[in-house]
Amino acid sequence: MTACTERQEYLEGGYAELSCARCAALVRVRKSSPQQTSVQWTRAAESICSTRLSALVPTCPDLRASIEDAVRAGKLEVT
Ligand SMILES: [Zn+2]
Repeated sequence: MTACTERQEYLEGGYAELSCARCAALVRVRKSSPQQTSVQWTRAAESICSTRLSALVPTCPDLRASIEDAVRAGKLEVT
């Protein structure tokens, strides 16, 4: 299945798919160190999320919390 293949590619690149607990925006997240998190926003996710993203607000606060939860639960591995 195409979706599976794409997902696998993201996982191989160290990216995991994660959705914001509040707005359900689906983004790709990679944790390269405990302090450093890369978030790839898609156009669709940006339009779903109510948070205005900017240099000062690089990601939705609820999504950040979701990422931290995923790390604590061991769902997001540090690559
Ligand atoms: Zn959000």
